[in-house]
Amino acid sequence: MVSSWTLRRDTDGVRHLVLDVPGRSANALSRTILDELDAVLGELEEDRDAAGLVISSGKPNSFIVGADVDEIRSLAGPEDAREMSRHGQRVFARLESLQFPTVATVSGPCLGGGLELALACDYLLTDEHPKTLLGLPEVKLGLVPGWGGTVRLPKRVGLLKAIEMIPAGRRLNPAQAKKAGLADAVVSSGDDLLDRAKTLLREPPPRSPKPWSRRLLESRLVTPLIFFRAQFVAHAGGGRHYRAPHWAVVTIQRGFHASSDAGFEAENDACAHLAEEPTTRELIRLFVVTEELKRDHRRRIAAAGAKVLERIGIVGAGTMGAKLAIVAVKAGYDVTLQDVSQPQLERAREAFDRWVASERNRGRLAGDVAPRLTISDSIERLVDADLVIEAIVEDLAIKQALLGKLSSLVAPETILATNTSSFRVAEVMGGVEHPERTVGLHFFNPPDKTRLVEVVPAEATSDTTLATGLALAEKVGKTAVVTTDTSGFLANRLFVPYLNETGYLLTELKDPLMLDRTMKRFGFPMGPLRLTQLVGLGVAEKVLASFHEAYGERFAMAPAWKSLLDTGAGKPVASLLDSRERSLSDEAKQVLEGLPGTRSTLSKQEIIDRLTLAIINEAGRCLEEGVVERSDHVDLTMILAAGFPPFRGGPLQYGWSLGWSSVVETLDRLAESRPRYEPCDWLREQVKK
Ligand code: NAD
Repeated sequence: MVSSWTLRRDTDGVRHLVLDVPGRSANALSRTILDELDAVLGELEEDRDAAGLVISSGKPNSFIVGADVDEIRSLAGPEDAREMSRHGQRVFARLESLQFPTVATVSGPCLGGGLELALACDYLLTDEHPKTLLGLPEVKLGLVPGWGGTVRLPKRVGLLKAIEMIPAGRRLNPAQAKKAGLADAVVSSGDDLLDRAKTLLREPPPRSPKPWSRRLLESRLVTPLIFFRAQFVAHAGGGRHYRAPHWAVVTIQRGFHASSDAGFEAENDACAHLAEEPTTRELIRLFVVTEELKRDHRRRIAAAGAKVLERIGIVGAGTMGAKLAIVAVKAGYDVTLQDVSQPQLERAREAFDRWVASERNRGRLAGDVAPRLTISDSIERLVDADLVIEAIVEDLAIKQALLGKLSSLVAPETILATNTSSFRVAEVMGGVEHPERTVGLHFFNPPDKTRLVEVVPAEATSDTTLATGLALAEKVGKTAVVTTDTSGFLANRLFVPYLNETGYLLTELKDPLMLDRTMKRFGFPMGPLRLTQLVGLGVAEKVLASFHEAYGERFAMAPAWKSLLDTGAGKPVASLLDSRERSLSDEAKQVLEGLPGTRSTLSKQEIIDRLTLAIINEAGRCLEEGVVERSDHVDLTMILAAGFPPFRGGPLQYGWSLGWSSVVETLDRLAESRPRYEPCDWLREQVKK
């Protein structure tokens, strides 16, 4: 059987152990790989000539991405989870107690179990590669580090840093890792990590004693306060729904002043407990769906041969374009940002300069990126772009005119992408020569933070163009979901019914602010009123108008939104909420008081049903129409684009947890007085199944 580990015995006495899991693009630690490591450690314990050990990865710029998630997913229950935790702890304890010094050399991601392995070594070296990131992100999957990480990281970097990192799943780049004391040295690119590791083994750097400030902070007198604060942070926001950060703090606390064994046992207990949490199950499922999606895209990119892009053009330096320029520069592209408005361009340049300064302060920028952005009010400056993203006003005629002009200006193979929210790609690209090079790249606001991009091939789009769109999405760090070219694609199709239903509820509730309180408790990061304020009523109006035309009456705008948009002489309310966003603005209250409505008290569950079933029903329609193929992709889209609570697994997983018969019954009842709730065929089919 082929082992994933290769042990080399160099003549200088240094042993070099390389992990390269066959047939995988990244190293993940499974039971088998840990057993194989255990066997190698057995050999090394008997090796009397060994002067030191260097552990590295055989995958270029990828150390170890963590434990094997498929194995975690298939754990039979709490006792299985406890045993998996003990297994890794035993192997890493053996590594830690080798008789000679050990060094982990890290290039690329060193996460979860990968960092736990590195922490069991005496020293850790990293390179400067942009992919090099170190952390224990287990909480993001509803788990805690179970292989000694909660015991060893606080010892290495100090309690304060560890408690900032583990319960939040924070990752550090090489400079941050060096500053925190996690990495002993950062090797500049061009230098050989193995050579540097050998030098370090020959001349080990002295470990400086703990400074007095750290000794004070880590005294029994002060740590209760640190743990108390950490629990407070872990419970803030959506903390009630996510137990892993709480367990991470408990685990660190149980081990910190006690023996390492007490800490390891705390990890076993936390792993056993979290194995039964439904939240953990959902978070792992979403992770697996995302990884599968990425693998599919990579296959597609390789099969169709994506175009190599160097220079990106962006037209429109508004809310989306200005931030997209930053996203593209950050990913390594040269960018030309064009707009007809000079003040908009200047604002975009200022935002870019602020970003550069802040990244530099955090040690996150290597080299001078400022020259990578060119701004211009002349469309001719886009002539040498490999791909142009149109992000101008949502007006079909203006978009068509611009793209028609662009298509005759740039080379026939330059890819033309649109960021439209509500029109079909084929419509926007109606006047483009060579339409096989057109594609929809629908980024979300704010594009630097939202992880989703919808990649939309029109009928004429070539496979190469689609593959290039997917490759770009991957390079800028987004999760891409491919949808068909229908009005609103997927995310807005699901989000807009939620937003419109909020409008109906405004006049049905005695206390409209209950909407925000209820949906935040349900798990959304912000309530629907605050979200509407953020999106802007004007944007909502345009999108609703376009959906109304495309999909009919169920998208007719709620009367409350109409009145708030036209308070007289075509003027909208200046603001929906007051300046502290805790109440409706006086102007909005006045408008709503003048409207008919029941003003009743609905239960929280009724509000949740009204808002979530509107999404679920439209999601069913999207599946019926084949907008996307898999219900998992609907869930992922709504979580990444609109903040649907991840611990509920997405709208369709939530619907499934309620039971499809119950969903359809509630929809039927709601549809008696509100025909827009008529359940779709897809949902009725699920009941039959
Ligand atoms: P915006 O109004 O903030 O900016 C539009 C910019 O386009 C302005 O700077 C304007 O000067 C410029 N512009 C107008 N006509 C132009 C032309 N012919 N040539 C060059 N520049 C021109 O708009 P936005 O919110 O950034 O939206 C841009 C696009 O992105 C729209 O299609 C919108 O639907 C889509 N979008 C917006 C959001 C959002 O929340 N803002 C989210 C996703 C997608």
